[in-house]
Amino acid sequence: MNFTRISDVRHVNRYRILNTIATHEGISRAQIAKTIGFNKVSTGEIVDGLINEGFVSEGEKLRSQSGRPSTPLYLDRNRYTIVAVDIGIRTISFALVNLKGELLRFERIPAPASPTAEELMALLIRHIQGQIQRVSEERKIVGIALSAGAQIDRATGTLLHHSQWDLYDVPLVYTVNKYTNLPVVLENNVIAMIQGEIWFVPELNDRRVFYVNWGEHMNGALYDRGRKVTPEMLFGHIKVRETGLCSCTGTGCLEAVASGAALERYSSRGNSVKSLALEAQEDQTKQSILKEASRALADALITTSAIVRPETIIIGGGISMLPDIYLETIRERFSTNCPPIVNNGITIERSQLKERGGIIGTAVLALDEFVFHRSHISGIS
Ligand SMILES: [Zn+2]
Repeated sequence: MNFTRISDVRHVNRYRILNTIATHEGISRAQIAKTIGFNKVSTGEIVDGLINEGFVSEGEKLRSQSGRPSTPLYLDRNRYTIVAVDIGIRTISFALVNLKGELLRFERIPAPASPTAEELMALLIRHIQGQIQRVSEERKIVGIALSAGAQIDRATGTLLHHSQWDLYDVPLVYTVNKYTNLPVVLENNVIAMIQGEIWFVPELNDRRVFYVNWGEHMNGALYDRGRKVTPEMLFGHIKVRETGLCSCTGTGCLEAVASGAALERYSSRGNSVKSLALEAQEDQTKQSILKEASRALADALITTSAIVRPETIIIGGGISMLPDIYLETIRERFSTNCPPIVNNGITIERSQLKERGGIIGTAVLALDEFVFHRSHISGIS
């Protein structure tokens, strides 16, 4: 099943009904018809079709206030499964995710230091096939989603250029599809994170959002009310300080001051930012390193805000899970130093998906592309 084009009204109505059930669990056929302004007979037919396909299930009959019986409808979350692959620089994560966007299985492996295209593809296919074999027979895999910190051509499914590895023009979608016979989608990892965030926080769809991926490396992208996304930004290379040698050979880039790669060397126990944050609870020097990183991030956000004018800034990625005091440091620095003409009520929030944003966001690409088509249909409440 692969609907890549919505060519007829019936498909659109089917997607609207499927999305309405997914976002209003327990809704009845009559309520759906009312919500989307559609006649009851056709709504009933489409719902029955969705039940037969295994996307929707019925709950126990209830008596409504009018005394007429109504049957609550639910998304049958576990009949269909997505394979999601988040290709990071340090680690590659593989997951099975259900229709509700819940993790069923998660596996993380170390990434090769600087793989060739052939090495990367062989490794991906081996592990994806391993995941597929673990899916029980009564479940069906609808598709595979891949994301990477790279320039991507979504239309052809090609990794055009990787930011850290020496990879150019890798036909990832073609290759993975050839070895699995499943539909495959590929996207930039920050765009995947934004799409994941919007999937679970639909209000963001109407906003201008700047999303920061604060992880091993730093990047950001702008989402503009469903219209435009700019993944090409070099957010991590905004100059925020006078010292600190960056991997790009520049000096004082945000990346060199606040990225996971820059911070973890200060951790004595576990060589990770997580353990640095634990050590910082009793070590003022370490706490000030993390606070300084937070202020540097705020400084880069002030510069970015003057140019892209976001309404909301969302901080995601592994390091966004630092204790609240650091989020407060970012907010405080931002509100103190951001010129009022730029800061017209900009809110800074932590990602709702927490450190799972990368893998869940990736799965959402496939949920949208192969099942729900939510980004293509408008008017879903
Ligand atoms: Zn740099």
